[in-house]
Amino acid sequence: MLPGVSSELPARSYDVVIVGGGVQGLALAYELCRRGVTSVAVLDRSWPGSGASGRNGEMIRSAFASTEWSRLFHHSLARWARLSAELDFNVLFSPTGYLILASTEDEVRRCAQDAATHARLGIDTEVLDARAARRLLPAANPDLVFGGLLQPRAGFAHHDAVVWAYLRAAARLGAHVFPGVEVHAVSTAAGRVTGVRTSRGPISAGAVVNAAGAAAGQLNQTAGVRLPLVQARLEMIVTEALKPFLRHAVASPHLLGYCHQTGRGEFVGGTELPRTDETGSLNATYELLRDMARKWVRLFPALAGVRLLRHWAGTVSEAPDLAPVIGTAPGISRFYLTIGWVYGFMAAPASADLLAEQIVTGHVSPLIEPFSAQRLLDGRLISESSLVVAAGGALAGR
Ligand SMILES: Cc1cc2nc3c(=O)[nH]c(=O)nc-3n(C[C@H](O)[C@H](O)[C@H](O)COP(=O)(O)OP(=O)(O)OC[C@H]3O[C@@H](n4cnc5c(N)ncnc54)[C@H](O)[C@@H]3O)c2cc1C
Repeated sequence: MLPGVSSELPARSYDVVIVGGGVQGLALAYELCRRGVTSVAVLDRSWPGSGASGRNGEMIRSAFASTEWSRLFHHSLARWARLSAELDFNVLFSPTGYLILASTEDEVRRCAQDAATHARLGIDTEVLDARAARRLLPAANPDLVFGGLLQPRAGFAHHDAVVWAYLRAAARLGAHVFPGVEVHAVSTAAGRVTGVRTSRGPISAGAVVNAAGAAAGQLNQTAGVRLPLVQARLEMIVTEALKPFLRHAVASPHLLGYCHQTGRGEFVGGTELPRTDETGSLNATYELLRDMARKWVRLFPALAGVRLLRHWAGTVSEAPDLAPVIGTAPGISRFYLTIGWVYGFMAAPASADLLAEQIVTGHVSPLIEPFSAQRLLDGRLISESSLVVAAGGALAGR
């Protein structure tokens, strides 16, 4: 049994109802309770962590190309460093370093540009030439290693441990978490949220938060909120345990892939095709399996012939600029959004902290202000060029 999960029926009323028990919803519940909000319910139609939060690549960094992404994610990285102690549970955060691999001269130039942004923001990164990057990745095919950008304090954590830790910490502080409760609609009256209609009956709420992951766009529409979000499917593999050969988390814009090796020795990696897969299915595909096998063996030739333990898919929601949407829903008071998360695992400690602050005090932190829903309606998209994500959006991708 997951800690803090209730098998009772939800009550008829809460101060805050959070739709979605992924890392965003659970971290937010924890942050709200930490601020003294005691009547918080998290409703999930499945089980906590069943969405992208239990299916992701676990990678964590704050070194992005744009000021907006870097500042928000750097707040998160600072929190990751003390998260196990704070939540009283080991989330297996491994700050082994995160390398953005450059495989062309153009990518080397971009690393240098991004490093200048990081220096301005006080984010510790280091540009590596080919020789230094090859020293760091001795198992890599040197033909693909032209240089890179290393963030020494970034890395990865264990996604199941993170979900578990937030769930337990939120429940200890009084949050109520209900699996198997589907929210059919967000209810509103006179421009204000009044609650949710669920598979277990109506629930009234002083505030409702959409943290529904890939289903966020559909949930918005039940309240008449129309934002340009699409659903995107991503896939990953994990191999049998291997001798240590990869210390750092590595993202390769050239291969559209990201990977790391766990403490137990498993290689965990995902790649993408240069188009967005909007099918929404959780079935893994042969096409991606072949893409991942081909690209990872090309980068790390020693992976040829290793056995796969698992291959899975997960879905996320994406805005046109691939940036998250955090804050109030346009036109509906007390309806909040934390959606459009493509890198929402690594951002959760920050986004939950700052959104909880907004819900409780009304103060909108300058770190989340650029990520408002209104930006999508006004066409103020955020340009972020260091994402290793298929270029489905208007501005992102390489
Ligand atoms: C293959 C893959 C690799 C990734 N790699 C990384 C990575 O390395 N680093 C990183 O930071 N991010 C990564 N991501 C993205 C990251 O996983 C997501 O951004 C993050 O998990 C989003 O969390 P969430 O809580 O918003 O959504 P989810 O974890 O998807 O949770 C949403 C929850 O809402 C519930 N729900 C939906 N609709 C309803 C409804 N109507 N009623 C009740 N409940 C509902 C679902 O059951 C689900 O549990 C990856 C994602 C995938 C799929």
